[in-house]
Order: sequence, then structure tokens, then C-alpha cells
Amino acid sequence: WINSYKRVNPGSPFGGVGKSESQKTKSILVDNGFSSVLVITTPEQEETGLMMAKQLGELAVGVYPHAVMHVPTGVADEAIQFATKKNIDCCLALGGGSTIGLAKAIALKTGIPIVAIPTTYAGSEMTTVYGLTENNLKKTGKDIKVLPKVVIYDPELSLTLPAGISASSGMNAMAHAVEALYAQDKNPIISMMAIESIKSLSQALPKIVKNSQDIEARKQATYGAWLAGICLGSVGMAIHHKLCHTLGGTYNLPHAQAHAITLAYSAHYNRKADIQAMDQLAQALGGQSHEQVGQLIYKLNQQLGIPLALKDIGLPEDGPSEVARITCESPYYNPRSYERDELETLLQRAYLGLEPR
Ligand code: NAD
Repeated sequence: WINSYKRVNPGSPFGGVGKSESQKTKSILVDNGFSSVLVITTPEQEETGLMMAKQLGELAVGVYPHAVMHVPTGVADEAIQFATKKNIDCCLALGGGSTIGLAKAIALKTGIPIVAIPTTYAGSEMTTVYGLTENNLKKTGKDIKVLPKVVIYDPELSLTLPAGISASSGMNAMAHAVEALYAQDKNPIISMMAIESIKSLSQALPKIVKNSQDIEARKQATYGAWLAGICLGSVGMAIHHKLCHTLGGTYNLPHAQAHAITLAYSAHYNRKADIQAMDQLAQALGGQSHEQVGQLIYKLNQQLGIPLALKDIGLPEDGPSEVARITCESPYYNPRSYERDELETLLQRAYLGLEPR
């Protein structure tokens, strides 16, 4: 689960890709034997990509600014064609989970290795998981080919991520760490990393919401997100990820916000399923007992100004019962059984944004 190289590098000037950052990236690319690199971004981050490409000089063949959320197959096919035609030997994914997702689609088909520079806290850079969406259906799979060969963490690149998106993206990361605590294949090292991740994120995110330019908080959040990404890439996820997969796949809810809201309810649902782990979770969040985990996460979301109700991010009225049905019909592993009525009641509370109970 450890990619070949990673580091936390507070190297670039405020909000963009600076010269020293690009020089370091350049030497990493050269050290890894790459000579023809395609920089991939979303349309919104094209300018950052252009800055990076400019400073990489002859190493970069250009910028491909067409990444969008959930990797539609049409978008992936065009990118694969483009990459093949350009005869590149590396995709440099500069952005969040959507950008890294498109690079993964290219890697899956062509074997072209990825160097990732994540700029959100989603954690995709540390996993072998890829996703592709066709006819509104998102399919995921695992393949070692899509695991980035190199990951470069630079907290300064997250300074431009708006506070609200940072908060929900950070809670998306926390969800990976929380589920790692009660994973089917959990182990003591991953649990230690998960707790460290949860502590770091819960301390850093309120500071980022107060001041999105707080570089110390950005470093702490990047550290927490890196640990969470390792958790996600190392052990299996459970009911929470199943619920969010359904919320995203069936209702196209925004990924990070859906994770942030739902985490309070899934943790509450599992609070007695692994008491030792959930006591640890409560303590990492400043509480004492497993009974509190749902409320502690709910209050943290409240403090971060994250929308609290699934209805406010697009879930329709019949969503709770439909999500409970789909989840129970094709469940992931979970440390306790899937009780459809109980889940539906909890999802109703999540729909309305009421504290988990
Ligand atoms: P995202 O990549 O879609 O980014 C959200 C928006 O923020 C985009 O417009 C992006 O351009 C912008 N942005 C990103 N970083 C920025 C920055 N530093 N400054 C300014 N703007 C910035 O969002 P995400 O939550 O990171 O990724 C979501 C996607 O990743 C989903 O499709 C999800 O399924 C996938 N994902 C996959 C895995 C995996 O292991 N395969 C893990 C987590 C998420």
C-alpha cells in the first residue's frame, strides 16, 4: 500500500505552482525516467496546469483540462485516444479525485503510469480503486496499474480550495479513516494511522474554515488526508461507503458533501458494532464513549458549516427508503447486520438534517 515515493512539501508560492515546486516535480519525473508528460486537470484548474506545464518545459507535452466528476466513459475514451496519439510516458494528475480518476482511466487502458499531485483531501491517489460511469451507473474496480507511481503532497496547493469544499473534502477523508477502524481486514497499524488521521483532520478543519490561508492547518489536514488515503487503499470499507456509493451513483449527490453528512449516521449505526474502536473514535473527536460518535461527527459538521441535510444537497423525498433498499439488497461487509427499517429511519433523519439518534 505504499507507493514508491511520497513527501509533504511546503514548496510553492501562494495558491499556484511555483518555480521551486516545479523544479522538484521535474527532477522527480526525470528520476523516474519520464520524458513525455501530459498534465491532467479539470477545466477549473487548467491555469494551474498550464503553469506547471510551462515550468516543466520540454518534459511536458501539454495540458489536458477535461477531467469531470465520476469519470464518464465518453470522457475517458477521448482522454485515452488523446494520450495514445501523443505517445506520452506519464500522466501528471494535478487536482482532486476527479482528475486522478481520469488519469486512472487512462492508466487502466494503456498502462501509462501516473504521478499524482492531489489538491483536495479525497485520497484517491493512495488507492488501486478506479471508477467509470456509463448511463448514470458508476462501476468501480481495483487494478494495481492505476495506483500512482509517485504522489507529491504540497499543502500550499490546497490554499485555493474554498473553505466549504475543504471542510467537506476533509470529512470525506475522515470517513475512510473511520471505516478503517472497524474494517473486516483491519490491523493495528492501520487503526493507529486512522486515529492519527481523525485527530489531525478534526483539529485542522475548523482552523481552515476560520482562515482558509492558514498554512499550518493546511499541512495538518494534508497529513490527515494522506493517512486516510492509506487507510482507504489498505483495508476494506463498509456500510458508510456503500451508502455514499448509492447516494452518488443513483442520485448524483456531490461526493464530498454526501460523505460528510452521512458519516454521522453511519458511525451512529455502527456505534456498538465494535465498541473498542468506537470508543477510540469518540476519544479522537474529543468525547468519551462509543455512544457519542454520531453526535460528535454531527456537531463537527455543524461547526464546519457543512450542510446538514441530505435534502439540501439534492436527495429527493423518497431517497431514504430507496437508499436503504438498494444498500440492503447489495451490501458491503459491515461489522453489524443491515437492518433495513433502522437504516431507513436514520436516513430519514439524515434527509432532514436531524441529529443521529
Ligand atoms: P473534485 O476532484 O471533483 O474537485 C472538486 C472541484 O474543486 C473541482 O472543480 C476541482 O477543479 C476543484 N479543485 C480541486 N482542488 C482545488 C484547489 N486546490 N483549488 C481550487 N479548486 C480546486 O473533488 P474530489 O472530492 O477530490 O473528488 C471526487 C471524485 O473522486 C469522485 O468522483 C469520487 O468518486 C472520486 N474518488 C475516488 C477515490 C478512489 O479511490 N478511486 C477516492 C476518493 C474519491
